[in-house]
Amino acid sequence: MVGIRICKMATKALRLPTHFARYSNHTNAPFVSQGSSPRAKIVTILGGVHGNELVGVEIVRWLQGLLNNAPFSTFDSMNGELIVGLGNPKAIEAGTRACSSADDLNRCFIVKEDCIRQKNILSYEDQRSLDIRPLLKETDILLDIHATNKPSLPFIRIAGEQFTHRHHEVLKYFPHARILLRDSKHTIGNGEISTTDEFVQYNGGVGICYEVGQAADMSCIDVVKNEVAEFLEKEVNLYLPQGSTDQTTCTTEYRKTREVNLEKFEMIEAINLLPNHKFEWASGTSDINNSFTMGSENFQKFFANQPIGYMFDDMGNETVVSSPFDGYLVFPKVEELMVEGKPLVWIAKKTS
Ligand SMILES: [Zn+2]
Repeated sequence: MVGIRICKMATKALRLPTHFARYSNHTNAPFVSQGSSPRAKIVTILGGVHGNELVGVEIVRWLQGLLNNAPFSTFDSMNGELIVGLGNPKAIEAGTRACSSADDLNRCFIVKEDCIRQKNILSYEDQRSLDIRPLLKETDILLDIHATNKPSLPFIRIAGEQFTHRHHEVLKYFPHARILLRDSKHTIGNGEISTTDEFVQYNGGVGICYEVGQAADMSCIDVVKNEVAEFLEKEVNLYLPQGSTDQTTCTTEYRKTREVNLEKFEMIEAINLLPNHKFEWASGTSDINNSFTMGSENFQKFFANQPIGYMFDDMGNETVVSSPFDGYLVFPKVEELMVEGKPLVWIAKKTS
């Protein structure tokens, strides 16, 4: 393909999955020390790990379209390697999160690869994760672009105990995000490393999951394009062809206010759907006479012991779901994605 240069020195042995492309300038890639074999810095951008999250898919197609058709000189200044790819092409085609409601590509990146390989039947997501894993192991910075099923302020989730100055620097490229959601204990996978960003961090890189808004909402696309353009300039010295972004959408003023206003939350725990149970969100009327339904948006506040929802067993017996402390709901599931034994929603606390 025109415009793609394979960085032989960097990732000679790395076979890219389908719907991925790589861009670099092999003549001046600097080396970072990784184990015994030095290699060029690898920045990876993923979209469509969940097929219904449209901004990430659009960003990947936009970048690949631009860079595949760019003149060779575009890559001359690069000082690292960029890999851009679609996570779950089959789900993207179907317009769904995954190929079935029980599958989720972003829970397949567990540390023990054998646990996936030894399954009797591998789902499409299992197989796709095996194809993508080698690349994520080598990745120094991952930007994985997602969107939520329920409305949300844009936010960035960073998992694991470590939050380094590199995380802080990468976070600054994305001022559209209003919230930093930390998940120190990997509660998203019930305590187990399982997402793309967690897997990159486990392998020594910086992994960022960027939730740009609600799944089908494309209104932020120009803002995110600008952010990605700046990220590429600063991290791999790649300048996108002129006119490919609209510079007016991301002002310095906006950036300054974000620095001050970035809200921080910490994930505390998942609420899992009990086996043989159904779940309903609580609804009611608040003190100021507003009607509400719990689980209708991300970062919805609740108070200690306030009913969040109800679980019903086969006999119709009801269990009230609540929390012993005040908190916020994150990633509340839509009904079709509620699976027994798996999280319905996560509880987070505001930390600043
Ligand atoms: Zn997602």
